[in-house]
Amino acid sequence: MRYDAVVIGAGPGGSSAARSLAQKGLKVLLIERKTLPRFKLCAGCLSARTSTLLPEGWRKKVLNTIRGGILGFKGGLETHLRAKDDIAFIVDRRDFDLFLVEKALEEGVDLLQEEEFLTFQEERGSYRVVTNRRTIICDFLVGADGVHSKVARLLGYRKRKLFRSVEFFLESYGGDEVRIDIGFVKRGYGWVFPKGEGASVGMATAEKEDLMKTFLEYSSYITERVPQKVLGWHIPYAEGWDDVSLGKERVLLVGDAAGLVDPLLGEGIYYAIKSGQLAGRAVVESPSHPSTLYRELLRSTVDDLIYAGKIARLAYRFQKTAFRMGSLGGLDLFYMLLRGEESYRSLYRKGWKKFIKSLFVA
Ligand SMILES: Cc1cc2nc3c(=O)[nH]c(=O)nc-3n(C[C@H](O)[C@H](O)[C@H](O)COP(=O)(O)OP(=O)(O)OC[C@H]3O[C@@H](n4cnc5c(N)ncnc54)[C@H](O)[C@@H]3O)c2cc1C
Repeated sequence: MRYDAVVIGAGPGGSSAARSLAQKGLKVLLIERKTLPRFKLCAGCLSARTSTLLPEGWRKKVLNTIRGGILGFKGGLETHLRAKDDIAFIVDRRDFDLFLVEKALEEGVDLLQEEEFLTFQEERGSYRVVTNRRTIICDFLVGADGVHSKVARLLGYRKRKLFRSVEFFLESYGGDEVRIDIGFVKRGYGWVFPKGEGASVGMATAEKEDLMKTFLEYSSYITERVPQKVLGWHIPYAEGWDDVSLGKERVLLVGDAAGLVDPLLGEGIYYAIKSGQLAGRAVVESPSHPSTLYRELLRSTVDDLIYAGKIARLAYRFQKTAFRMGSLGGLDLFYMLLRGEESYRSLYRKGWKKFIKSLFVA
């Protein structure tokens, strides 16, 4: 079997890369180890700016449109702000991810599901990609195989910063506001995101602490119901260039496999789709050195994650101050960020430096 490009993993990163490559005329194979549609533990919150990257028809996949938020601190103080416009959309990941795969297939991508990628080797200028069922020869390989990416490990990437996260589905909740609670865990937050008639209730932390114990306390604050089927998974995050693994030569990594997740909010879907699309562009525009161009194309995105990391370190170290900032106009700035009208760089420059300085002076 021979393809121009093989993409491993049919999450948002993989299907976006495959679609982008096929749109540019390459013969593409997408390999997924699970049966589609597959379950993915995720709150399914797409920031409004993600919509600019999505194929036509995405609105049909939206379960809830978010128009406001509540920021809570330690189960006591709360601030509430409606947004002037849509700030986010909630999707079911089984349905949404399948939609993106179907859009890739419409562009001529071939799909193999229930097939596990095992390894690859370079051979006479091409790559030999080995799955549990066959061997495929290709010129370009894209690793979109998630947080514990095998492609990344085979390229020699080891280090990874991780949030540990837990989540369960609360059956009746609804509404059009997201709830974020800080002050429960050291570096992370609790969330309630409406999802259809119910809600995703979850918590993530980047610190070594008893997450399950704190999560049970948190969920008893949110609901009288005893959480059922609490599931946990890892979310990578990047605060700088050392935390991202973008690939080498003609092997590119996208989404979680590249560590491309926001270190403050844990938002990964936007970055997976964006990096998938940019990987496609890099292969076509620079076929002999795609990894160099890919890095360039992602420069402003990764540079902005550095500012997200600076904000995250301050916000999680001074959580009460962060809460106050949110109440004093910070939430509105965040809504602009989610809509793509602000960057983390400008948010940092506008708010935090001044605030922290005044805090120390005080
Ligand atoms: C609890 C939780 C809540 C989250 N909430 C949000 C949220 O609300 N908003 C947001 O933006 N992000 C959220 N995230 C992060 C988001 O889920 C990820 O960043 C996103 O899924 C990354 O997409 P991806 O395509 O890179 O990887 P994935 O979606 O993980 O897809 C990787 C795919 O690769 C396949 N695969 C893996 N190994 C192999 C192999 N060897 N062979 C073949 N296939 C393979 C997997 O089966 C999978 O389908 C959350 C994460 C968690 C854990």
